[in-house]
Amino acid sequence: MFDLKGQIAIVTGGANGIGRGIVNCLNQAGAKVVIADLDQYKGKKVAEEVDGDFISVDVTVEEEMKHLFKTVNERYGKIDILCANAGIFPQVALSDMTVEDFDKVLNVNLKSTFFSVKYVAPYMKERGYGRIVVTSSITGPITGYPGWAHYAASKAGQLGFIHSAALELAQYGITINAVQPGNIKTEGLIAQGQAYMDGMRANIPLHELGEPEDIGVAACFFASREAKFITGQNLVIDGGQILPEDPGAIL
Ligand code: NAD
Repeated sequence: MFDLKGQIAIVTGGANGIGRGIVNCLNQAGAKVVIADLDQYKGKKVAEEVDGDFISVDVTVEEEMKHLFKTVNERYGKIDILCANAGIFPQVALSDMTVEDFDKVLNVNLKSTFFSVKYVAPYMKERGYGRIVVTSSITGPITGYPGWAHYAASKAGQLGFIHSAALELAQYGITINAVQPGNIKTEGLIAQGQAYMDGMRANIPLHELGEPEDIGVAACFFASREAKFITGQNLVIDGGQILPEDPGAIL
């Protein structure tokens, strides 16, 4: 697909779900992939399967994020690609949402994007090359869903963040773009329950939920050398879910 041989990539949240799909695609394209995740058991397993590496990290902890990039740079001499993908999506109605609920989601999804980009950038600037891909969502930037006001805010926030970051990073040959998944079959999505998944499938013009690799392919594209003239952009990958003006428009 794309030739990423010899490149060093880091995927946060790469132990499961969409992150795992991104890891698979980067690996197939020839990159050495470092999985950075809280889930040590799955993270190590995935690293073994793709002949990659695993580093245990909580993306909300600033010192751990600094340590992650320093370690990878020391171990491999460079960082070509960062996929800032780790995220959570607990559902809670606004009437019950506590400050702690709100802060937790904003920290894991949005503050971690800030830590990721801020602390990987120096290593990419040094070499005048870098590709950053952020996993946002359709929920927030385009659509809404009850119980996800905090999540939606975090995912829209990521897109705002990359617009300004792209301008600061462009002068160093670093691009930053975002993928916006629709409903993708992951552990996190399955946890929403069968009724949720059936409802979503009925609203997708392509009549199927997405696979993690559907997002992986798009992430690989943004991560490739060939995508050198694209920055600050986002790509929706949702089976057409955001298109219908009316449920009757789905054939
Ligand atoms: P998932 O729960 O299947 O996987 C998330 C991974 O992130 C797990 O490996 C988990 O251990 C890791 N993680 C969570 N908190 C972390 C932390 N503090 N530090 C380090 N790692 C942490 O979820 P997923 O469905 O694969 O979601 C991945 C990303 O895709 C998220 O940013 C999510 O918002 C986004 N997304 C998912 C969907 C979907 O349909 N699944 C749709 C749109 C966007």
